[in-house]
Amino acid sequence: TTASSPAFRTIDLRGHALGLAELRAAVPRLTAGDGASVEEAVRGIISQVRGSGFSALTALAAKFDSVRQRHPRVPAEAISGALAGLDPEVRAALEESIARARSFAAAQVPADVTVHPAQGASVTQRWVPVGRVGLYVPGGLAVYPSSVVMNVVPAQAAGVASIALASPPQKDNDGLPHPTILAAAALLGIDEVYAIGGAQAIVTFAYGIPAAHDDAGELPAIAPVDVVTGPGNIFVATAKRLVKGVVGIDAEAGPTEIAILADAGARPEFVAADLISQAEHDPRAGSVLVTDSPELADRVREQLAVLAARTKHRDRVVEALSGEQSGVVLVDTLDAGIAVCDAYAAEHLEIMTADAPAIAARIRNAGAIFVGDYSPVSLGDYCAGSNHVLPTSGTAAFSSGLNVTTFLRAIQIIDYSEPALSGVARHIRSLSDAEDLPAHGDAVEVRFADALRLSGPP
Ligand code: NAD
Repeated sequence: TTASSPAFRTIDLRGHALGLAELRAAVPRLTAGDGASVEEAVRGIISQVRGSGFSALTALAAKFDSVRQRHPRVPAEAISGALAGLDPEVRAALEESIARARSFAAAQVPADVTVHPAQGASVTQRWVPVGRVGLYVPGGLAVYPSSVVMNVVPAQAAGVASIALASPPQKDNDGLPHPTILAAAALLGIDEVYAIGGAQAIVTFAYGIPAAHDDAGELPAIAPVDVVTGPGNIFVATAKRLVKGVVGIDAEAGPTEIAILADAGARPEFVAADLISQAEHDPRAGSVLVTDSPELADRVREQLAVLAARTKHRDRVVEALSGEQSGVVLVDTLDAGIAVCDAYAAEHLEIMTADAPAIAARIRNAGAIFVGDYSPVSLGDYCAGSNHVLPTSGTAAFSSGLNVTTFLRAIQIIDYSEPALSGVARHIRSLSDAEDLPAHGDAVEVRFADALRLSGPP
C-alpha cells in the first residue's frame, strides 16, 4: 500500500509563557490509553511464563513469532556458523563499532575512592560488577545486531562474569534469532543466546525458568539474572518496568524518539532526513522538531513529504510522523526551545543551531545530545562510540543511557580502629539518644569497658 503524506502536526507555543508542568503536558507524546492496554497484555505474559515455563515460551513463540520451538537455547554451532557466513563488509562495520564502543566503555570504568575522616579511619567506595546479566536485542519490525554491541560491550567492560542474550526467533532462520545477531554475539565471544522475543524474554531473565521434561527428554533450566538491559518495543519496555525491583534494569529504552532543536539557519533536508531515520523504527516512534523559525518548519514539512514518499518503510514512517507523538513545536526564542527540550527529555536530541555546542551545554534532560550538522542520530546508532540504548518517554529526566555503571554496584567499606571509633563515640551516643535508639549508642560503648552505660534498668 502506498501511504499518503505525513500529517506532521503543529503545536504553536508562541506567545505563551508556560511552566515546566504545562510544557510537559504540551509536548507530543503517546497517550496513556495505549499504555494501559499494553500493560495488561504484558502482565498476562508475565504470569503465563512464571506459571508454565517452557511450555509458555513455546506457545508465545508460536503466537508472536510463528515458529515451533521446544527449547529456546541457540546451539553453539549455529552461533559459530553465523559468524562464518557473515558478509565481510558487515563484519568490518561491526568490528569498527565494537572498537569505538570499547574504548569509550573502558574509559568509563570508575575508580574506587577512599577517604580518611580521622586518623585510623577509612571509608571506601568499591565498584563491583553484578554476577549475571540478561541482554535483550530487538528483532521484530527490524533486526538489531548493533544492539548486541551496545549491550555486550559495557557489560564486558564492567567485568560481568555471566552474560546471556535473547532476541526474537525468526521464521526464516529456523526459529533462531537473525543470523547477523548471532554473528555479532560470536564476534564478542557470547555463547549463551536464547531465541525469545518481547516481554517473555524479559520475564525469563528476571525469574529464570526451572528445568523440565517433555516426551523428548530434559529441558535445561535458564538461570535468573541480576540485571536486564536492552532496547525494545513497547512490550519490552513495559515488561522491564514491571520486573524492576525483582531485577535491576538500565532504563525504559522503548520506542525511539528524536527531538531536533533548530533555528532558521538549519538545513531542512538534514532535519527531515533525521526525523525520518528514527520514524522508520516503529509506528510508535516519536519525531519532534522544536524551532523558532516558522519558515524552517514549512521547509521541513515539504522535505518530509518528499522523503517519506520514497523511503523503504514509508508506511510505518508516515504512521509515526502522523501520530500524536510527533510534530513541530513552534517557540518564540531558542531559550524557549531549550525549555521545551528539557520538558520533553528526548531519548535523542539534535542541536542544529548557530553555536550548537553552547546550546548543547545548556540542555539538562536528554538521553544523548548530538551536536551540529555532522553528528546525526544514525552515527550514534552504529558507530559514534557512544551507546544507543537510551531512556525514552520522558524518563531521561531521571535515568541514563546504558553505560558501564549500569552493570556495577558501589559497595561502601568502613574500617575504623579502636581509637578512631572512640574519637567519635560521643557523637554516636548523642545521635542515637536523639533518635530514641539508645541500643545503637550501647553497641559502641560496650567496646570501651570503662565507659559502659547500658540503657534501661540493670
Ligand atoms: P522487539 O524485539 O522489541 O519486539 C518484537 C517482539 O514484540 C515480538 O517477538 C513479540 O514477542 C512482541 N510483540 C509484538 N506484538 C505483540 C503484542 N501484540 N503483544 C505482546 N507482544 C507483542 O522488536 P521491534 O518490534 O522491531 O521493536 C524494536 C524497538 O526497539 C523499536 O520500538 C525501536 O524504536 C526500539 N529501539 C529503542 C532503542 C532505545 O534505546 N530506546 C534502541 C534501539 C531500538
